[in-house]
Amino acid sequence: MLLTDRLLLNFQRCHRQAFLEMYGEASVRGQVNDFLLKLAQDKQRFQESLTFEQTVAQPDYPRSDWEAGGLATLDLMRQGVPVIRNGVVMSPRTDQYSFASTPDLLIRRSGVSVFGDWFYVPVDVKLSKRPKLEYQILSAFGADVLAAVQQVLPEVAWLYLKDKGWYAVDLSKVMAQMEALRSELLEMLLSRQEPEVFIARNRCSMCVWFDHCYAIAQSENHLSLLPGVTPTRYPVLQSHRLNTAEILAQTDPLYLHAKTGLGHEISSKLVSQAQSFVYQQPVLLHSARTFKAFDALPTASIELYFDIEAEPGLDLVYLHGILVVDRQRDLQQFYPFLARQPEEEAQAWQDLVCLFQRYPEAPIFHFCAYEVQTVARLAKLYGAPDGLIQSLLPRFVDLHEWVTRTVVLPIESYTLKLIARWLGFEWRNGAANGAQAICWYSEWLATGNEVLLDDIVRYNEDDCLATYHVKEWLTQFLQQQIELDLRPIASGY
Ligand code: SF4
Repeated sequence: MLLTDRLLLNFQRCHRQAFLEMYGEASVRGQVNDFLLKLAQDKQRFQESLTFEQTVAQPDYPRSDWEAGGLATLDLMRQGVPVIRNGVVMSPRTDQYSFASTPDLLIRRSGVSVFGDWFYVPVDVKLSKRPKLEYQILSAFGADVLAAVQQVLPEVAWLYLKDKGWYAVDLSKVMAQMEALRSELLEMLLSRQEPEVFIARNRCSMCVWFDHCYAIAQSENHLSLLPGVTPTRYPVLQSHRLNTAEILAQTDPLYLHAKTGLGHEISSKLVSQAQSFVYQQPVLLHSARTFKAFDALPTASIELYFDIEAEPGLDLVYLHGILVVDRQRDLQQFYPFLARQPEEEAQAWQDLVCLFQRYPEAPIFHFCAYEVQTVARLAKLYGAPDGLIQSLLPRFVDLHEWVTRTVVLPIESYTLKLIARWLGFEWRNGAANGAQAICWYSEWLATGNEVLLDDIVRYNEDDCLATYHVKEWLTQFLQQQIELDLRPIASGY
């Protein structure tokens, strides 16, 4: 068995993913999605853009032939090549396994090793802004495998981060953690213990095993499909035999709180969520009077619906989409302020500011906090007329916050896509999403293919329309509840 750094990374993210990578059926493994491929290409380009004064060499070996890669890299290390790109370091084989690491760079240092008066330190190149712990653990793994080959453990391993440059990984701090994880991974693989499915949307949505795992979760009515059932709450619920949505739906929130120690609000929301799931209907989270007495979702004669597309890899906001809804005249007009090239970002911002000024009273609806944060950031970067931002920010209304504060829905995640689809809204391009739009923009920059820009603008317009759809539904729903003055189904306490 070959235990690679890639497998250890998978294991840190999801134990099951590491298991499937080793034993899963290739026929149910999906394609790596375009966004992850783009990230891999961006990383490769960034790595290749690093230049060195010393000689750089790369092992030459047939792709996927780990043994050959290990031998070719070892040969370069024995020669004392100052910088080795894309090497493969293989530990000596035991009866059952060997380790393989793939450092982006191996850099020669002075000191004693089996090679002579030099040894190597591993460097991993990352696009990440932070030296995440999972990367530091991989660095420790790489250093440990390297130590088995050169008979000396470097004091530090290095990460090279796109924005921050060199980061020294203190191996004395992370080595023990790496060893514990590696042992756990080995035990799972050697014993062939397949971890249970657990669907966590943010982690699973880009995984190549998603379709396979999701089909299993659906066939089992797995509790992880219920929003709010997190990997930490799941074993707690299981230990009290609260292992189906049906059982949870019939549980008194007070009992749930007392039995499990989960907070009052969490218990109440979990029960409401299960009821919504089982009865396939929306459930109000609080008394309807709460909304009447305190604040109401604003409705105005002119409303703006706002959605941004950005390319984090270029630190670029390339599209501000605004849907203007004029209720008095029963008109809807969509305005895409597009930076066709990265250097047009400032102009797109100025156009957006002009539109905001044209409608000084209109509430601005959006989904999640990103739009507000981005407007505040771009105002600092490119400037805005005096007082505009101060008057603008209170007009923003986050519909994601409104939905999750007021109601639970029979959906698996509170994304704009799942909420709007549950309401019957469909995107014209069903495959479009934010990550895909990033790929399209990157391809547009490379090819100049206008069709890609059209696809992005259409997708962004649909996001704005979906936001409008959600707002219309929520306004009506809350109004109905106020009129009926319904008590919540799970009043709890
Ligand atoms: S889909 Fe989710 S549960 Fe399945 S292997 Fe991937 S990350 Fe793990």
